[in-house]
Amino acid sequence: MTPTPPPLDAGLATPKGIWIIGTDTDAGKTVVTAGLLRLLPGARAIKVVQTGGGPLDQTVYSQAAPGANSATVHQFKHPSSPHLAAELEAVKLDVPELAASISRLASGEGITLLEASGGVCSPLNRGETFVDLLALLDFPALLVVRNVLGAINHALLSAAALRQRGIELAGFVFCETTAAAAPAEILADNRRTIVELGGAPELGNIPFLPELASGQSQAWEAVEKSLAPLARRLTLPSPAPSQTLSRFDQEHLWHPYARVAPAEENWVVSRAEGNYLILQDGRRLLDGMASWWCAIHGYGRREIVAAVENQARRLPHVMFGGLTHAPAVELAQRLLRIAPEGFTQVFFADSGSVAVEVALKMARQYWLGRGKPKKTRFIAPRGGYHGDTLGAMSVCDPVNGMHSLFRGLLPEQLFASRPGPAFRDEFEPSSLENLRLLLERHQDELAALILEPIVQGAGGMWFYHPEYLREAARLCRQAGILLIADEIATGFGRTGRLFAVEWADTLPDIMCVGKALTGGSLSLAAVLARPEVAEGLSAGGGVLMHGPTFMANPLACAAATASIDLLLASPWRERVAALEKRLKTGLSQLASHPAVADVRVLGAIGVVETRRPVEQHRLARFFVEQGVWLRPFGHLLYAMPPFTLGDAEVDRLTQAMADAVNSGLV
Ligand SMILES: *Cc1c(COP(=O)(O)O)cnc(C)c1O
Repeated sequence: MTPTPPPLDAGLATPKGIWIIGTDTDAGKTVVTAGLLRLLPGARAIKVVQTGGGPLDQTVYSQAAPGANSATVHQFKHPSSPHLAAELEAVKLDVPELAASISRLASGEGITLLEASGGVCSPLNRGETFVDLLALLDFPALLVVRNVLGAINHALLSAAALRQRGIELAGFVFCETTAAAAPAEILADNRRTIVELGGAPELGNIPFLPELASGQSQAWEAVEKSLAPLARRLTLPSPAPSQTLSRFDQEHLWHPYARVAPAEENWVVSRAEGNYLILQDGRRLLDGMASWWCAIHGYGRREIVAAVENQARRLPHVMFGGLTHAPAVELAQRLLRIAPEGFTQVFFADSGSVAVEVALKMARQYWLGRGKPKKTRFIAPRGGYHGDTLGAMSVCDPVNGMHSLFRGLLPEQLFASRPGPAFRDEFEPSSLENLRLLLERHQDELAALILEPIVQGAGGMWFYHPEYLREAARLCRQAGILLIADEIATGFGRTGRLFAVEWADTLPDIMCVGKALTGGSLSLAAVLARPEVAEGLSAGGGVLMHGPTFMANPLACAAATASIDLLLASPWRERVAALEKRLKTGLSQLASHPAVADVRVLGAIGVVETRRPVEQHRLARFFVEQGVWLRPFGHLLYAMPPFTLGDAEVDRLTQAMADAVNSGLV
C-alpha cells in the first residue's frame, strides 16, 4: 500500500466563538451581533459587560432574532466604560474569572457571538482592558469599524493592538452609523485602505439604516443581506475529526522520547501568558516546568516579545561567516560581564547539545595546538546529562543515556562515580577517590572533564556538594586536563546563584550555557572559553572547526539580551530564595511517605524521588486535571517553575504533587 500524504488542515473550522469588538463605542457592534444571530441557526450571543440604563443589547438581540439564545455576564447602571461603571457599584471585574465564565457559556453546541463593550483597549479594571480578556480566550475577533473620518487610524490601531497580543483578526465589518458621515468617496477609500494596511479582509459593510432604531424588519433584512457572506464563512464545515490538531499530531508527529505508534495523546497548547499555559479548550495550567527549565520569567514578557519583534523587522537572520551584528556583540558583552571571571571568548550555537559538541571539539583542538594529539577522550561523572547529539550523548550517563543502543556509533569515554555527597551533607573527601584514580591513570589520553556543576539535571535531579566541584577542578589542573562546566540547566539563577560554579568559586576553562538564556523564547546556546583555550587552539591551526548555519541568530540574540536584562533588573535572588523556602515547606511533609525515597530542594528546583518508576502519562493527566503542568520522569516528580510564581502558586504545585503521592499514583 502506498502511504497517502496527510490531508492539509482546512484552517477554516467553525470557531467555537467569535469576538465582536469595535473601533469605538457606538461602532455598530450590537447590530452586527444581532444580524449574525438572525443568520446563524443555533448561535448564541453574550454581552460581556452591559453598562447604562438605556435599552439593553440583549433586548436588541431578541428584537432582531426572537427566540435566539442570549445572556449578559455583567450589568452595571452607570453609562460609562466598564471599569468605571463597575467601580461605582464597588465591583472589580476580574479578567481570568470573566474568561472562565465566557468559556463555560461558550462550551455548548453552536457558535457563540461575544459582544465586547467599546473598543479593544476599553478598560475592564484599573490594570486591564478588553484586549487582556481576549488574549485569555482563543477566539478570533471581528473588528466593527465605524466608517467616519478618522476610521483608518482607529481601525489600524485596533488591529495592531489585537495582533500584538496574538489575537486572530478575522476581518473588518464597516458600519455607517449616521447619515452621510462623510462624502461617499472617503467612506469607500476608508474601506479599501483599512483592508490594504490592516492585513485582514472586509467581511461586511452595513449602510446607514435609520429604520433600525424602530426595529423595522426591512431594516434587519438589509443588515442580514450585508452580513450574509460573513455568516457563510462562519458556518464552513469543521474539519473531520481526523484533522483535529491532536489527532494529526498523534498520527504524524514525533515527540521527545515518546512512543511512535501508537503515540500518546498530547495536550494542545494554544498560548501561554504569565505563569500559565492555555490549552486549546480554554483550560489554564499553572506551569511547573518552565518549558524544560527555560521560561524563567514566565511567558509573553513584553520586553522579550518587543525585542524579537523589533529585531525581526530589522534583521531576522544573516550568515555569521564574514559578517557580524549588534545583537551578537551586545549579548556576548553581557555574557562575559556576568559569567565567572576570566572568560574572554564566546561561540554561539543553536542548541545546548550543539554547544556541548563545540566545547568537546574546543578541548580536543586545544590539545592539538599544545602538541598533545593523544589527548582525545573525555571523562564525566555518572548520572550526567549533556544533550542528545552523538558527542554529547557519549558523555551522558552510560545507563540513562542508553549507550548500549548506540554501541559502535558513540565514542567511548570514561566515567567516574556519581558526584557526592549530597549538597547539604557533610563533605567526604573519599567521594573523589574514583575520579582521582581515573585521572591519574588516563591523564595522557584525556582532553577534559565535563560535568554539570552542583545539579545533575535530566540525569536524576541530583544536588551534590560544592566541595566536590572545587576538588574536581583542582584534580583537573593537577592532571593537566581542561574542565568543561555544562551550565545549560543551572545557569541564570536556577540554583540560587547566577551560575552554579559560583557555589564552589570554581573557574572552569570552558562553560556552556543554553536553556534559560533566551528566557525560553528561542533556541540559543553559547560556549564561553578562557583566553588560554583560544591561544592553544590557534597554535593548532587557528580555526575552530564548527559553524552552524543559524549561528548567532539575531532574533535569538536579541531575545537573550532582553532576558538577561530582565533577570538582572529583577530581584531574582530573593525570588529564587523565596521559591526554595516555599517548595521546602510544601514538599517536606512527603519525605516520610512510604512511596517516597527522598525529597530535596535547591533554589527553584523541588524534587520528590519515588521508590518506583512513575507512570508518566497517567500522572501528567492527573496534574492537568488539577490545573497544573508537571511532567515527571523516571523516579522523579519535580517542579522547576518560572521564577515569577507567587507563594500561592507554589503551594498549588506542591499540593498537586502531594495529592499525587497521597492518592497512590506513585
Ligand atoms: C538540556 C541540556 C542540554 C541539551 O540542550 P538542548 O538545547 O536540549 O540540546 C545539555 N546539557 C544540560 C545540562 C542540559 O540540561
